[in-house]
This record gives sequence, C-alpha cells and structure tokens, in this order.
Amino acid sequence: MKEQYFDAIVVGSGISGGWAAKELCEKGLKVLMLERGKNVEHIKDYVNTAKGPWEFPHHGNLTLAQKELYVNRIRGFGPNEKNLDWWANDAETPYTEIKQFNWFRGYQVGGRSLLWGKQTYRWSDIDFEANAKDGIEIDWPLRYKEIVPWYDKVEKFIGVSGSTENLPQLPDGQFLPPMEMNIVEKDIAARIKKNITINAV
Ligand SMILES: Cc1cc2nc3c(=O)[nH]c(=O)nc-3n(C[C@H](O)[C@H](O)[C@H](O)COP(=O)(O)OP(=O)(O)OC[C@H]3O[C@@H](n4cnc5c(N)ncnc54)[C@H](O)[C@@H]3O)c2cc1C
Repeated sequence: MKEQYFDAIVVGSGISGGWAAKELCEKGLKVLMLERGKNVEHIKDYVNTAKGPWEFPHHGNLTLAQKELYVNRIRGFGPNEKNLDWWANDAETPYTEIKQFNWFRGYQVGGRSLLWGKQTYRWSDIDFEANAKDGIEIDWPLRYKEIVPWYDKVEKFIGVSGSTENLPQLPDGQFLPPMEMNIVEKDIAARIKKNITINAV
C-alpha cells in the first residue's frame, strides 16, 4: 500500500471534530478524519424524515425490547422509533453508573449533530463576569464583545434556531427563523412577558 502523509488527524466527525477538520482543510492542510460509526449520505439516508406517524409500525414509540436496549438513553428526551438509527444503544456504549449520569452517544458521520435541537445560547457579559464577581477561580480572559465575531461565524454555518428578543442576559445571535410555538406556548410566553420583569445585573 502506498504510504500517505497527513498534516493532521482528527478523531471523530461530530461537531467538534467536524469543525476542526473543516477549518484545517479550509486553511489548506491535508487532513485524515477517523470515524468509528457508519457513513451517512446527506438527505438519502434520512429515511424517516418525510414519513407520517401512521407509517411507523409502533406510531413512533419504542417496543419493550427496544426500551431495554436503550434503557439509559430514554431519560428525558431520547430515542424513539423515528430517530433510533442515530442513537448508540447501551450495549454499544456500556458504562458503570454509580450516580445517575446521562450519557448519550451517536456513532455515525456527524455524530450527535444529527440529533441536536438547533438551540444554542450565547453567553453574555453577565456569564463572563460572574465568577470574578463572586471571587471564584480565575477571571475569563475575554469578554462578550471579543467573542461576538466567532459566535457569528459558527452560528451562520451550523444554523441556530431562535427569535430576536433584545435581552441583555441572553444576547441574540445569527438566528434561523425560530421554531413555531404551539398555542399553549404562545399563551405562556405572552403571560410571562406581561407579568415578569427580568432585571439583568
Ligand atoms: C437529542 C439531542 C439533542 C440535542 N440538542 C442540542 C441543542 O439543541 N443544543 C446544543 O447546544 N446541544 C444539543 N445537544 C448536544 C450536542 O448535540 C452535542 O453536545 C454535540 O453534538 C457533541 O458534539 P461532539 O463532536 O463533541 O461529539 P459527538 O457528536 O458525539 O461526536 C463524536 C464522534 O466521534 C466518533 N467516535 C467516538 N469514538 C471514536 C473512536 N474511538 N474512533 C473514531 N471515532 C469515534 C463518534 O462516532 C461520533 O461521530 C443535543 C444532543 C442530543 C443527543
């Protein structure tokens, strides 16, 4: 076999490894990416995306046998019949649990970026200054305005869902249109807006 040389090796093609590889490639480096999971062809392999609930044998629910296989993954949000392909099960990712520790993994090209909910919140100066104000550990070496261009760059590429709210404690980002709220969520949001004043300190 012909020997090949690479400038960098990236292990794992999730959002962390994927982003590192993208940046390195764009700067002209020759990059080898190692991924333990299956290959995923964009669109073609999203076989459940366009299905209606009636097209799933269990209407989107897991069988008892599947629940047993994914017992640690079902806590809170988690696997269902529609997205099961993208979750590593408990047998593939065993671990000893002394205290509850929710460990979710997806073994495929793209890792858990195929599962994430498009919600990513920016830190504000309230966060960057909090530990210094409380006298805990070392002050962050940067403040919000210095990191803004980097937030902008990443958000534009990955696609973050959100609505512009002008809240000092939760800075707005480069959002895609927000996911629509249902009628109950809209009612709750309106009541919170009317009745609660949040004072940023
Ligand atoms: C259902 C769900 C919803 C989520 N929603 C949000 C959200 O709305 N907002 C948010 O900010 N975060 C969300 N997250 C979390 C977010 O998706 C993850 O934090 C993020 O995708 C992790 O990226 P990563 O690259 O660090 O790890 P991973 O995506 O886990 O990537 C690791 C990759 O490495 C591979 N790998 C592992 N071991 C090896 C090995 N030995 N050799 C080679 N390859 C290996 C894996 O197969 C995988 O592809 C969500 C997560 C889940 C599961």
